[in-house]
Amino acid sequence: MKKNDSNIKKAIKYLNNNQCIAIPTETVYGLAANAYSKKAVTRIFKLKRRPRNNPLIVHYYNLKDLKKDCEINNTFSKLYKNLCPGPISFVLKLKKISRISKIITNNSNSIAVRFPRHRLTRKLLKKIKFPLAAPSANISNSISPVSKQDVIDEFGHKLKFILDGGPSKVGLESTIINLIGKPQILRLGGIESKKIYKLINSLKNNFKKKNKVKVPGTSKLHYSPGIPMRLNAKKNFYNEAFILIKKRKKYNKNYFYLSKTNNLKEAAKNLYRTLRTIKKNGYKKIAIEPIPNFSIGEAINDRIIRASKK
Ligand code: AMP
Ligand code: MG
Repeated sequence: MKKNDSNIKKAIKYLNNNQCIAIPTETVYGLAANAYSKKAVTRIFKLKRRPRNNPLIVHYYNLKDLKKDCEINNTFSKLYKNLCPGPISFVLKLKKISRISKIITNNSNSIAVRFPRHRLTRKLLKKIKFPLAAPSANISNSISPVSKQDVIDEFGHKLKFILDGGPSKVGLESTIINLIGKPQILRLGGIESKKIYKLINSLKNNFKKKNKVKVPGTSKLHYSPGIPMRLNAKKNFYNEAFILIKKRKKYNKNYFYLSKTNNLKEAAKNLYRTLRTIKKNGYKKIAIEPIPNFSIGEAINDRIIRASKK
């Protein structure tokens, strides 16, 4: 049996026993458990030390599975057809007959759902008889994990199993879009907003009006590296780690490059890994040069602005 297949078997065993495991996704690693089981989902909240009022995203294999729990509409169908599986989450209405554990949604009748693209996790989802609740596999308010080692650094021996799928390809969390009532982007993320605007024209104006809906996962501290971070820096001060996107001629041991070629996708993929490396190296301060604010650069800026808030 191939190694991946035997690991998927192991993963299924843990999940069937209401345990939490870490799973790879293209955005970040998730801390996954059976979304139909109160016992399993409670373990996610405990392990992550996540406040109960912060709802979890539920991961499905396909539309057929989703329809057992959620109401869908035309906008959803269009986005699903064009963007899924992929780094986008949808807030939908829960069906009354849904089996989703109520603690996932904090007793609300709306739910955030996603169809992850990672090959191993899709294989896993196809084989189990329940969807997976899976927030990022980190202690609440710390940096999201983008590799197996990051997950080990977060939970150590407390987490029994990690399905290793290599480094996350996107490296930032999913874009979240509310599809109850007028569509609205609630969090920028892995799918650039321009791609979504192309599919739903009316959305653009709606987002520009400033997002007033309180989304728990978008609280100030959510993506904090735990040390002060200075944005739009032109240079770094003594002992400050300096995160750069554009190559500089001069070498400096405190420079950390997000991309070799000034590429925003590559920068997004490397952001969380770089923040972790800087922390591990014992720096007490970070400076970061301006990140272009288009395509996935918008989501990078969203995260570093939050990370820079105290
Ligand atoms: P993550 O920690 O990346 O899994 O993100 C989960 C985030 O999804 C939450 O913090 C919320 O921002 C969002 N979310 C989940 N469920 C809902 C919901 N029912 N309504 C609105 N936003 C939600
Ligand atoms: Mg998270």
